[in-house]
Formats: sequence, C-alpha cells, structure tokens
Amino acid sequence: MQMLMDLTDDEAALRDSVSNFAERVLRPRIGAYVARHEFPASLVREFAAAGFMGTAYDPAYDGSGMRTRGAAIVAELLARVEPGFAAIFLCNSAPMTVIARYGSDALRQQWLSKLCRGEMVASFGVTEPHGGSDVASIRTRAVEDGEDFVLTGSKVFSTNAGTPLHGLSTVVAVTDPDRGSKGLSTFVVPVGTPGFSVGKAGRKVGWRIADSVELFFDNCRVPKSLMVGNRGDGLKQILTTLSIGRILVAATALGLARKAVDLAKSYGARRSVGGKPIFDNQGLTFPLADVLTKIHAAELMVRNAACLADAERPFRTETSMAKLFASELAVEAVDTALQVHGGYGVFEEFEISGLMGEAKVLQIVEGTSEVQRLIISRELTA
Ligand SMILES: Cc1cc2nc3c(=O)[nH]c(=O)nc-3n(C[C@H](O)[C@H](O)[C@H](O)COP(=O)(O)OP(=O)(O)OC[C@H]3O[C@@H](n4cnc5c(N)ncnc54)[C@H](O)[C@@H]3O)c2cc1C
Repeated sequence: MQMLMDLTDDEAALRDSVSNFAERVLRPRIGAYVARHEFPASLVREFAAAGFMGTAYDPAYDGSGMRTRGAAIVAELLARVEPGFAAIFLCNSAPMTVIARYGSDALRQQWLSKLCRGEMVASFGVTEPHGGSDVASIRTRAVEDGEDFVLTGSKVFSTNAGTPLHGLSTVVAVTDPDRGSKGLSTFVVPVGTPGFSVGKAGRKVGWRIADSVELFFDNCRVPKSLMVGNRGDGLKQILTTLSIGRILVAATALGLARKAVDLAKSYGARRSVGGKPIFDNQGLTFPLADVLTKIHAAELMVRNAACLADAERPFRTETSMAKLFASELAVEAVDTALQVHGGYGVFEEFEISGLMGEAKVLQIVEGTSEVQRLIISRELTA
C-alpha cells in the first residue's frame, strides 16, 4: 500500500532491522513455543540484546530515542509473525513508559536502563480482581511507615510477571484513601522484595506465549525512593500510560490483520475447488478487499495517534479510536481469513486456526472496546 506519510530514515532502518529479526530469528523458532504456550525466554533475550526493548526511550538510559512511532513499528512487525511476541514487547513497554515519563533520574538510571538493555523485563500491576475496567477502583494499599511504604493487596493478569526474565513490577496502590482518585501512587517493586510473589500462569487462547499472572503483596516493604513521581499522581500516570499502550495494541492488531491476510492469500493461491481457484469467487475476495481497506485506515490511525503522542499533543480520543478500530479489524481479518481456509482453517496444522484468540484478546487488553467507546463518546458532550 502506498503511503505519503513516509517513515523517516531512522524509522525505515528500524523497520528493516526488526523485519530481519522477525523473519530470520523469530519465524523459524517461535512456532514451537506457541505450541507449548511457553514464554520464549531465549528469543526475548536475543530481541532485547539487539536493543529493540528500548526503542522508544531516551538514549541517556540506553534506549534508541524513537519514541512511540518507533515502538509502534516494532509491535506491528512482531505481530505479523507472532502477536504473542508483540504482547511481551508492549506489556514491557507500559512499566518502562511509567518510569521514563514520571520516574526520578535515579529510578531511570537504576531501572529504565536495565530494561532498555534487556537485562530484565517488567510487568504493569494495575488491574485488580474486583475493579477490572474501572482502573480507579484500586484497593491495594500502600501505608507509609518511616522511610518505607508497606504494600498489601493483589493484582490480576499482570503480563510478563513470573517469567524467568521478570525483574520488577510497577504497581499502583492507594496511598491516601481520603483523596479518592488523587489518592493513588505508583511504586517500582523489584522481584525478590520480601512479601512480593506471583501466581501461576494459566493457558490462554490469546497471547499464548505471554504469561499473565496474579501479583500478591503481603506486607511488602519498599523504600520511598521507589515511588514513581509524585504521591497522588498514580491515576494520571495510569491513564497516560494506558493511552500510549493502546497505540501499541492497535499496532499489534494491525500486524495481526496483515498476518491473517498473508495466510488467506497464500492458501487462496493454492486452493481450487472443483477445478476452479477459490479466489475466482468474489464472495470470498470482497470481504478481503474490505479488510485490506480497513488495514490501510488502521495504519493511518496508528501513525497519527503515535505522532500526536510524540508531539505531546492531546491524543486520548485518537488513541482510543485507533485501538477500537484496529482491534475490531483484527477479529474481522482473522474471521475472514479463516473462512477462506474452509474446514482446514479449524485444524491446528493451519496457523490461522490459532489466531482468533490472538485477535480477541486485543479487544480486551489495555481497556476493552466498550471502554474505548466510553472515552470516544465524551466527544459528544465536549
Ligand atoms: C491476556 C491479558 C493480559 C493483560 N495484561 C495486563 C497487564 O499486564 N497489566 C494489567 O494491569 N492488566 C492487564 N490485563 C487486564 C485488562 O486490562 C483487563 O482485562 C481489562 O481492562 C478488562 O477488565 P476485566 O477483564 O476485569 O473485565 P470487566 O471490567 O469485568 O468487564 C467485563 C465486561 O463488561 C464491560 N464493561 C465493564 N465496565 C463497563 C462500562 N462502564 N461500560 C460498558 N461496558 C463495561 C467490559 O467491556 C467487558 O466486556 C490483561 C488482560 C488480559 C486478558
């Protein structure tokens, strides 16, 4: 598809090097991990060693300085090979973004640099069992005690936690219960802190190779120096970080939609029924033409949202639109591509069979489609 919104030279170079990694390193080896629903630790190490984990972040902290636009390129290209690998990248990016945007220089030097260098991965501890979509209704408590805060509570679905590379969680907790939504604060909680433990990963139909687990805090003591930014800014930090994360989810959905079309094209090119190529039927190709058109629209929306974020301009509505549109598109693209495969599409030997769950999860994470519609609806009363 032709685009007038060209990539910069640095972005084109990034695209080429991530493509190279995705095609030459990831593609031949990732299938075995997907089949076992296993976190691909050695591949994540290789990806991180190539410097890609730090794509968005400041070179002063060992990142590449390519901001959200760069990270969106990475997520899309990874998803075109394996969406679960893009999930590992984007879920690592959320805690990195919190530390990068709001953390002190000391926190960035100590933790962001390690994450950019890929010495560890991080998890984002926001969602709680009773709260779900209502991120403000957090109950995990952080009580001030001398030079420390003591955390008690739990989180669910924390992706990348519990993996062999997990080094820290950024955890949002209530520090000031009387201050309502201004009573939340964020903490870096390093793995190994007494009282911090994680649950076991269950098998999922989407993000099959990315572990999403519970986090438990049982009188978990962290020094005040591990608070990220200002006390009481937790909700503001979550909302901005989730908005940036949504751009990466949208980019992942775009990559997955492209992958579905790739699979439909390659199957359609070799399948004839009754001596007639199946792509001679417009009934089959017109839905794919619709998907291609929406892929083009999604690409523009993702790029625009990333540009707005990087320009520090208001971007929340555009981001929600991109996330909503691209994740709904991913489901449509996989559904359409699976239909092209006929009965073979539901057999595990055919890669398309595993992608419906991968698409579905993108409509849920970092705020469901309904939550995106709630955010977009605010335009009607603005
Ligand atoms: C694979 C996976 C990985 C994840 N990784 C992380 C992570 O790393 N860190 C983290 O903190 N969280 C993570 N999450 C959590 C994710 O962000 C939540 O699942 C999501 O926000 C929805 O919350 P919930 O699952 O509790 O659904 P619920 O909030 O219980 O929602 C159930 C249904 O009700 C709808 N609904 C709820 N409220 C409203 C409303 N006001 N109006 C209209 N509809 C509504 C929802 O859209 C949904 O359809 C992950 C989730 C998954 C599935």
